[in-house]
Amino acid sequence: MLTAIDRYFNILAGNIDQYLVLPLLYHFGWMQWEELSFDWALVCVYGFFAVIATYAICWPLEALFPIERWDDRKAVFTDAIYTVLNRVGVLPIVSFLLFYEVQVWVNGYIVDLGYIPPTLESLVPSLIGHPVITFIAYALILDCADYWRHRLSHMFRGWYALHALHHAQRQMSFWSDDRNHLLDDLVAGVWFGIVGLAIGIPPLQFPLLFLFMRFIESLSHANIKLSFGWLGDRLLVSPRFHRLHHGLRAAGRRSCNYGAVFPFWDMLFGTADFSNEYPPTGDKRAPEAMATGGYLAQQLSGLRFFRDELRAARAGSRSRH
Ligand SMILES: [Zn+2]
Ligand SMILES: [Zn+2]
Repeated sequence: MLTAIDRYFNILAGNIDQYLVLPLLYHFGWMQWEELSFDWALVCVYGFFAVIATYAICWPLEALFPIERWDDRKAVFTDAIYTVLNRVGVLPIVSFLLFYEVQVWVNGYIVDLGYIPPTLESLVPSLIGHPVITFIAYALILDCADYWRHRLSHMFRGWYALHALHHAQRQMSFWSDDRNHLLDDLVAGVWFGIVGLAIGIPPLQFPLLFLFMRFIESLSHANIKLSFGWLGDRLLVSPRFHRLHHGLRAAGRRSCNYGAVFPFWDMLFGTADFSNEYPPTGDKRAPEAMATGGYLAQQLSGLRFFRDELRAARAGSRSRH
């Protein structure tokens, strides 16, 4: 069945590529992107499907078992804009276009040095022939990298000012996962680029497993009173587990539960909290525009908060000397 879905998505992407993307590229004289256009179409098709599937599962659950009820859902709507921009491929494509030259240069430079980026299978040959185990190994390593990126972003005042955009939301829902500052997204992109060079890019032959991980990330933000039970909560990040990370009391440096998909790294590094609580979310220090402003207002306010916090951090370190 999974291969049937894959095949269907491929056909759909092929059609979009042929009748929409390629004519646009020819029209604007951007033929140099011709080879990549099918992959872009495929990313968009998977992204679109993921948004629909997430909505179909999370929306009824939020309606049936909500933690909070809201009359005005304007702030939720802004989060939906983030999701569509991120998942249906608009932002990934824009960042790809912006950094294409840099990527070509970095790759060329590294190959010139005689370094061929390994794959996990070349590093651990016993993984060959076990594609699902290989995928889970990749997922665990990427999640570990993400755990440390996220934990560090809580430790530095300037960096946290950007990440505060993710935490400012008081109406947290399954749309909130992609609510990030663009500069914070940029740091994450570079971070994963480096990990990718070290262990190879995770195999894209498992797009559905990849989508499942993204689904867990969306679900973990959902406004649903849901845990996966004693064992389940220790295997995958549940809405209860991630909500404790977003709790008002935990904003900033004293947070817990940094993992995005697997709680394993929090358990290993001593930051896991499995309390049976669903605290109110938000960050009292973040400017109000970061919580309830529109998309652009949030981004601009995030930049100002970043600048102010950097200044304050510098002044603080000077007064200590
Ligand atoms: Zn955080
Ligand atoms: Zn979150």
